Amino acid sequence: MSFKHKKKFGQNFLTDQKEVLQKIMEVSNVTSDDTVLEIGPGEGALTALLLETAKKVVAIEIDTDLEKILRKKFDNNPKYTLVMNDVLETDIQSFVEKGTKVVANIPYYITSPIINKLIENREVIDEIYIMVQKEVAERICAKKGKERSVLTLAVEYFGAAEYLFTIPKEAFTPIPKVDSAFMSIKLYKDNRYKNQIKEEIFFKYVKAAFSSKRKNLLNNFATLGYSKDELRSILNEAKISETERAENLSIEDFIRLITIFENK
Ligand code: SAM
Repeated sequence: MSFKHKKKFGQNFLTDQKEVLQKIMEVSNVTSDDTVLEIGPGEGALTALLLETAKKVVAIEIDTDLEKILRKKFDNNPKYTLVMNDVLETDIQSFVEKGTKVVANIPYYITSPIINKLIENREVIDEIYIMVQKEVAERICAKKGKERSVLTLAVEYFGAAEYLFTIPKEAFTPIPKVDSAFMSIKLYKDNRYKNQIKEEIFFKYVKAAFSSKRKNLLNNFATLGYSKDELRSILNEAKISETERAENLSIEDFIRLITIFENK
């Protein structure tokens, strides 16, 4: 009996896509020194390639209907550990060591919670290579312009994101409505932005700056209780125009601006 894909688990499996799989292996540069964490192995299309190269592969899968298929394919491989659990409920640090690389075609319905969880585990995770909806990858990786959002800054605060390549929807079974993209996040080990501005402070200002997409910075920061005159002076000191919009600020602009706010 063949496997019946479940929509509720975001199951769009890569079909016999040697080219896509090969490209994933190339850009994620998995070596024999790497411990790889795979979220959602599905029927193991990517897992098989990861096992050919990596030192160790830990795969976390929620769907018990896939357990038998995965165990049959990989259980005799000593490099492989299967964790049958919800990734969001899994204590990642008890399965992988420092320096782990994530390589995965993740379930899209929990893209943000997964990225947050991986960032929270940055003590053991160095690099994240994931497949996400194309539009989400464009938003996370945008360097300037209207695709930037709180999500972009939430990733930039912890690491460097890069859009790697697009994958057409036809590469999956069943074929989803949207195209996908493969992207990376290399997590900063030096906490370069966190050391300058605490997380809660950083997000207070970033959220305010993006609170109304159509408004400029002066009007959005006014929601924090500052007078327009105070805001003009702060923006002026940061060398940012009062008519500028949040989407055109880099993370460095935000850090400079928030430092001025907090020292007033
Ligand atoms: N890696 C496979 C591939 O590329 O063919 C499957 C990718 S499919 C997009 C997502 C996988 O994540 C499915 O196997 C699904 O069952 C699994 N999954 C969904 N929700 C999950 C969760 N909360 N924790 C762990 N795995 C989950």
